[in-house]
Amino acid sequence: MRTAIEQKRDGVALPAETWHEIVASYARGAVDDAQMAALAMAVHFRELDLDEIVALTEAMVESGERLHFPREPFVVDKHSSGGVSDIVSLVAVPLVAACGVPVAKLSGRALGHTGGTIDKLEAIPGFRVALETQEFIAQVERIGCAIAAASEALAPADKRLYRLRDRTGSVPSIGLIVASILSKKLAGGARGFVFDVKCGSAAFMHDENEALLLARRLVEVAARFGHPAHAIVSAMSEPLGRSIGTGIETIEARDFLRGTTGDSRVRELVIAVAAKMLALGGVGDGELRARAALADGSAYERFVAMVEAQGGTRAALEGLAKAPHAHEVCAAHAGTVGRIDAVALGNAARRLTERAPTAGIELAVRVGERVERGQTLATIYGEGAGARDIQAAIELVEGARDSLPLVLAKL
Ligand code: URA
Repeated sequence: MRTAIEQKRDGVALPAETWHEIVASYARGAVDDAQMAALAMAVHFRELDLDEIVALTEAMVESGERLHFPREPFVVDKHSSGGVSDIVSLVAVPLVAACGVPVAKLSGRALGHTGGTIDKLEAIPGFRVALETQEFIAQVERIGCAIAAASEALAPADKRLYRLRDRTGSVPSIGLIVASILSKKLAGGARGFVFDVKCGSAAFMHDENEALLLARRLVEVAARFGHPAHAIVSAMSEPLGRSIGTGIETIEARDFLRGTTGDSRVRELVIAVAAKMLALGGVGDGELRARAALADGSAYERFVAMVEAQGGTRAALEGLAKAPHAHEVCAAHAGTVGRIDAVALGNAARRLTERAPTAGIELAVRVGERVERGQTLATIYGEGAGARDIQAAIELVEGARDSLPLVLAKL
């Protein structure tokens, strides 16, 4: 192990057998955390070439169980690199299933200021996120979609390595991120993947070129395993949707699927992601099909079917309501919304949801909008966040500001 660490420190590409040996030795305790942390830090500075990423990914997949769906129909999954008010999975999964392509989505929990799809779904009374392997597979076959928590048995080496990277400052390495994301996705059994790589001040990747490189690498490495994939690079500086907080994001997704709310930025990204997922499943005209399934209610009915299959009820979903004690946050002066600090709002929403699952913040404005003094900028539901902090996160400037572009690249 010491030789491998020194070689990586000096920029040498390690052969595939070495990566397999390292992961297997780490799993059985023959490589300790100190050595693994040193290796991860060497990789952070020297990076991995494509063959090394493939080898590390494969070794991490082999460290645990792997789900298998029948070859037909073609099952897809999507991944988001994490954002604030990112409700795309909640909407796109049933939407794509309603258009005829099955979706087997394994999701994670909230990390830092970003939300987690699993926590959002748990706001629905009765909803079960821990599905047994056979139950998950059977549900996808029966109703066309399932969203479940990734079990500890899938790519356990990644889970251990990720926790170590998180403690030791070596998360931001493109090679390690690709191997980490893909090992979990490959173990999850879907055949095709769409990656929504977020870019901006509230994302992992702040720089657009880095985000593009990550997106390209995810698609290339998936292809090396024989899995077709697409990627979208999308902006994550202002929150994607209007609601921030686990339960109120689920309410926004529900109402979006029901057609009672329709934020244009959410719609743009949902349609872009859904069209790529449908293309992987061989469905052409994906944008048109997705818009039709939203308009005719079939996407919403598929969401209800998924909720019912996983222990919730239509009544529980439709009865989900924002937490009481709404406080309006108003503009202290007139101006144009120049910036909305998604990190600050994500952190404030986390504090609110610790007290009530459907507490959170609902934005009334977007970057680029003109507001008058006293106009509502946002509403706080629940207790535990100060109006001043929320007001400070919505910056008002003089003069005009363009709204921010959302979809930055499609691969
Ligand atoms: N998400 C993951 O699953 N792994 C990483 O390394 C980074 C983001």
